[in-house]
Amino acid sequence: MTSISLKGVCKRFHSFEAVRDVSLDIAGGEFISLLGPSGCGKSTLLRMIAGLETATAGEIGMGGKSIQHLPPSERNIAMVFQNYALYPHKTVLENVAFPLLMQEPMIMRLPWLRRLAPGRRLVDDQIAARVDPVCRMLGIDHLARRKPAELSGGQRQRVALARAMVRQPKLFLMDEPLSNLDAKLRATTRAEIIDLHRRLGVTFLYVTHDQGEAMTMSDRIVLMNEGCLQQVGPPLELYNDPANLFVAEFIGLPKINVLDLRIEDRNAFLGGQPIRDMPGELDGAPAPRKGALRVGLRAEALHLCPVDHPHALRGHIHIVEHLGNEAILHMSLGGEDICVRVQPAQAAGLSPGHEIAVRPDWNSALLFDAAGSRRRG
Ligand code: ATP
Repeated sequence: MTSISLKGVCKRFHSFEAVRDVSLDIAGGEFISLLGPSGCGKSTLLRMIAGLETATAGEIGMGGKSIQHLPPSERNIAMVFQNYALYPHKTVLENVAFPLLMQEPMIMRLPWLRRLAPGRRLVDDQIAARVDPVCRMLGIDHLARRKPAELSGGQRQRVALARAMVRQPKLFLMDEPLSNLDAKLRATTRAEIIDLHRRLGVTFLYVTHDQGEAMTMSDRIVLMNEGCLQQVGPPLELYNDPANLFVAEFIGLPKINVLDLRIEDRNAFLGGQPIRDMPGELDGAPAPRKGALRVGLRAEALHLCPVDHPHALRGHIHIVEHLGNEAILHMSLGGEDICVRVQPAQAAGLSPGHEIAVRPDWNSALLFDAAGSRRRG
């Protein structure tokens, strides 16, 4: 199993720094998602590992050895792209077998020589022995003679995966491989990729801007913004213990509620409303006695309560989202739009315009300073 290590990796395109000083250790067999908004440098980082871009500074190692001097073909890495990059004039079988044919000596790649060559049968048998099980595993063996144009998006994606797998690579790099699929197919193909990772046991590096995808698939998420690492950790760690406001807002659906907290002497105001039940501890440290902060409360950290409750924060509903197993109430509080996650029964009878009240679960409140850094006490 192949580990990857990045030390101080940078990539500059002219004067623009696309990747800034990224250091990261990935253990062999891990499923890592590179997550972040469009343009944050995810693909550039992946392409440097693949050898398709050269790092401006820093070290890239695989299995404990530097790979920077190796061309892409010698890195034993398979890459699956968003657009699948299949050869349109080749059949499914030829597309899948293509990387193996490329590994043959040049003389065997010429079809007319291949027919004459005495070793042809052996080579073809060896290729079939690698290609057939992979096609069966991915359920595309019955499509072997079709061309890419005759396949659905999901089938094309599986052909691209099969082509990556036949080389038995040490590392899979995937760049938004599901973004061309519709929602249902994306969910099933996502499950197939997780299963593939479990069965192959090799290292996967998966680029996505979809936090839900990263949350459900990964052992660890690497969250980037503007070329820099923001946080690296298991999905729930990023959700429950974000390093900063950017992480807190990027991870989780609906987005975390962020409200202004103002503390003056003994009086505290959340979203402009007085609060009388603020605990002595906030986010694992003594609550500040003075100042202006931002408080992050996830939709499930706000609980509905009677409007006349002494600790109620009141506001008006503007949208009720019924999702079947739960409902999301969108309400305005102190000029901010916030989301409250409730049971379907709690949302029954509620509609836009209703006045409702919530109480924060202070134990799960996250505290940030004005610059968005996590403020633990
Ligand atoms: P997306 O999710 O939109 O694919 P990304 O996070 O993968 O985004 P990159 O493709 O890595 O982002 O690009 C990072 C930044 O580097 C972007 O601002 C992009 O415009 C810039 N960039 C990428 N390749 C080049 C290039 N060859 N020349 C100049 N700038 C580039």
